This record gives sequence, structure tokens and C-alpha cells, in this order.
Amino acid sequence: MMILGIFYFIFGVCIGSFSNVLIYRLPENKSINFPASHCLKCKTPLKWYHNIPLFSWIFLGGKCAFCKTKISFQYPLIELICGFLMLICMFKEVSNFEIVDYFEIYKTFMIGVLFIVLLAMAVIDFRYTAAPSVLLYVAVILSLLYKFNFEGVKFALIFGGGIFILTFLLTKILKKEAMGEADIYIFACIGAVLGLNLGLLAVFVSAILSLFAFMVVSFLFLLKSKKNNIKSNTQNQNISQYQMPFIPFLSAGLFVVYVFEDKCQLFLKMIIEGNLF
Ligand SMILES: [Zn+2]
Repeated sequence: MMILGIFYFIFGVCIGSFSNVLIYRLPENKSINFPASHCLKCKTPLKWYHNIPLFSWIFLGGKCAFCKTKISFQYPLIELICGFLMLICMFKEVSNFEIVDYFEIYKTFMIGVLFIVLLAMAVIDFRYTAAPSVLLYVAVILSLLYKFNFEGVKFALIFGGGIFILTFLLTKILKKEAMGEADIYIFACIGAVLGLNLGLLAVFVSAILSLFAFMVVSFLFLLKSKKNNIKSNTQNQNISQYQMPFIPFLSAGLFVVYVFEDKCQLFLKMIIEGNLF
């Protein structure tokens, strides 16, 4: 268990390091492998030992080795989170640490990397309210490879298709874009990984999470507009124009229901049998 755990953690940290590159370069249409990693401030190319995930940031003290500019804490933080994501998935997928089951190891890789891709997209969505289509395709493919059966394909189509039709109708009725196209892909991932009942629960969880976040954002806008009373008119316009990214919440919903699958199954069973209270 120890060896497998360390292996998955290091793997997660390395993929996390790569996803840091994606987060910074994909939205700006920069090449992923050229130029080589460099300091964003002084543009000095990094030596290989400046580029070791997690450790380099620690032994450089969070500063560029050449110009001493502070390096964002986001880099090691994302690497660390990705390491732990792989570990969490390992504990979820591997049923017996005494016996090596290659299918469980395979599934851990697929679902772990899926969550890392979703994390990268969530960060990009927060920053740019956009989602690179490459990552959306990769996410759907990973979720189908994770399930590795017809069931996964079926529910990916049902969830993705359902949302596609709903978005289409709402766009016709409201005469403005109801939901981002990108969300359709994340819905497909949810369907593929969780199936019908748990999938719907995940959508419900993400709706609650986004509602909560929307209240916090509205409250912050309100505080801001109170501070500069004169500008209050323009501030009010801002809140209605504010587009909340939905990918982070859908991903969080998927993650929560995936991790607490047993508890969620129990919860759903109680609702269906009608003895929740
Ligand atoms: Zn520098």
C-alpha cells in the first residue's frame, strides 16, 4: 500500500506540474512545449533542477533563482492537490492492497487524471470563463475509459444529450445563451462515471454549491457597492452581468458524490423507499 501510494502521489504531482503549464498556456493559445519553462518575469530558462515539481519551489523558497521574483504559490498548491487526488482515488478504487488487481490500478489512473483535468479546467474557467476544447474531449474520453463498458457510453449520451436539448430549448425561449457549451461535456462525464441516480445527485449537489457561491458573490458585490455609494448604479449592473463559471461546481459535485458514493447510495435508497424522516 505504501509503495503504491507513494507511486500514485508522485505521479499526481508530476501530472499536476504539467497541468500548471496547461493552465497558463492553453487559454492564451501558447505552445505547450515551446518555449521551455522559464521565469515569467525575467524570461530566464529554468535549469532542470529548478523544474522538479513541489521540491524546486520549496528549496528556491518560492522565488526565481535568477531575479528573485516571487513565484506564485499556486504552482506547488496545484501539484500538491493533484498528488492527493490520486491518493484519494487509489483508496476509492483499490479494494485489497494485498492482491494486485491491474484493472483497479488502471481505473485509478483514469479517474485520477480525470479529476486533475477537471481541476485544471475549473481554474481556467474561474480565470477566463472559458474552457479549452482539448481538455473537454480528454475529460470525456477519460470518463468513458474509466467506466469501460456500454453503461458508461449510454449515460454519457443521456446526460450530455439531455443537457444539450435543454440548453437548446432554453436558448430559443430566453433568446440568449442559457448555458455554456462546455458544460455539456462535463455533464457527459458525470453520466459516464456515476450513472443515472448518482449522476442526478451530483448535478443537484453542484447546483446547491453554485447557489451558495452565488450568494457569497452577491454579498461581496453588495459590500462593494455600499462602499462607493455614488457608483452604486454601475455596481448593480455588474452583478447581473457577472457570469458565474459552472465547470468548477459540476466538477466538485462529481467529486463529492464519487468520494462519498456509499453514503450517497444509502441516501438515495432512503429517498426512494420514502423513509428519510
Ligand atoms: Zn526570474
